[in-house]
Order: sequence, then C-alpha cells, then structure tokens
Amino acid sequence: MDAKQLGDDLTVVLHTEAELNSRLAEMAREIEADYRDEPPLLVGVLKGAVMVMADLARELRFHAQMDWMAVSSYGAGTKSSGVVKILKDLDSDITDRDVLIVEDIIDSGLTLSWLKENLESRGAKSVRICTMLRKPEALKVEVDVAYVGFDIPVEFVVGYGLDYAENYRNLRDVAVLAPHVYS
Ligand code: 5GP
Ligand code: MG
Ligand code: MG
Repeated sequence: MDAKQLGDDLTVVLHTEAELNSRLAEMAREIEADYRDEPPLLVGVLKGAVMVMADLARELRFHAQMDWMAVSSYGAGTKSSGVVKILKDLDSDITDRDVLIVEDIIDSGLTLSWLKENLESRGAKSVRICTMLRKPEALKVEVDVAYVGFDIPVEFVVGYGLDYAENYRNLRDVAVLAPHVYS
C-alpha cells in the first residue's frame, strides 16, 4: 500500500520505501562487519518488526537465523503503558549465543531496555539492539542501541510494520498519522 492511497490519513511521509531500503543495506554492512566470527540470532519483536526483519535478514550475507517474541506495551492506543508482558516467548535456547534484537521503533525505550535485560539474564553471550526508527526526544530510560536506521521527531508514525489499531502495517513508507484518525 502506498501513501497516496491513504489520502488525508497521513500528514507527512518521513521516509520512503527507497530510503528505508538503502539505509537498511548500510546497516547490514555494519552488522556483517561486527559479527564476522559468528552470525547472531536475530530476534524480532512482533508484530511491528516483521518488515524490518524480512528486509534485513535478506540483505545480510550470512545465515540469518530468526526467532520471534511478542511483548505487549501499547495495546491499541498511542501511549506507552510502561508495562511489559511476554505474549510469545522465544523458541530457541540463547545460552552463549550472540543475540541481535530487531525492532521497528524505540519510543520511550521501556520495552527494549526491559527486553535486553531479560535476554541477558538467560545467559546470552551478547545482546545488541537494531532498530529502524528511534525518537531520541521521547526516551525515558537510557538504552544502548547498536544500529539505528533513522532518528525521527516525537510524532505517532505508521507504516513499514507500524500500526494504528492493526492497520497501516502494510504501508510501504513511514508516515505521520493524521491526528483526526485517532482523536
Ligand atoms: P517504547 O516502549 O519504546 O515506548 O515503545 C515500544 C513500542 O511501542 C514499539 O515497538 C511500537 O510497537 C510502539 N510504538 C512506539 N512509538 C510508536 C509510533 O510512533 N507508532 C506506532 N505505530 N507504534 C509505536
Ligand atoms: Mg516494536
Ligand atoms: Mg502497535
């Protein structure tokens, strides 16, 4: 689905599909260089990270094993609750493994800082974070992020996996949702 098809649901396109793809290729080269000895296990956070995961994994020039977790932090609304609950856990044992968490967006950072600690406590050799988007001015906790696609302003965005009430995930671009849609 393209931004044009969505008419006045969106106020502005922040990053086009082409921009996302070329930035992702740069990030993949960095990741390949950093994990030259052993490829990490990619851990995607459902559902938002499906597009980043699919594109990143195919861009990487090593065997990219994937696993998934689902955690809740937002519900159907637009504000972080700060409460993190595991809805679906990993299938893999990550003891002594290098883990790379793949995320769509870091807003308050609450979800990711919790998740990173959770995976570290399982005995992973290393846990790093890769996110397509980050809102630096919305951070409530410090999170060490190894790979960031784009820093964006504090706006509610949709597309490239990001939803509002489960819609807009299949929008190719990342765009700001018009306030009239959710108010
Ligand atoms: P955090 O815990 O960092 O505040 O937010 C984590 C999750 O909230 C993200 O993985 C994402 O699912 C959701 N989220 C945060 N900001 C946005 C946004 O601008 N748009 C959408 N659609 N989801 C967001
Ligand atoms: Mg997410
Ligand atoms: Mg959501």
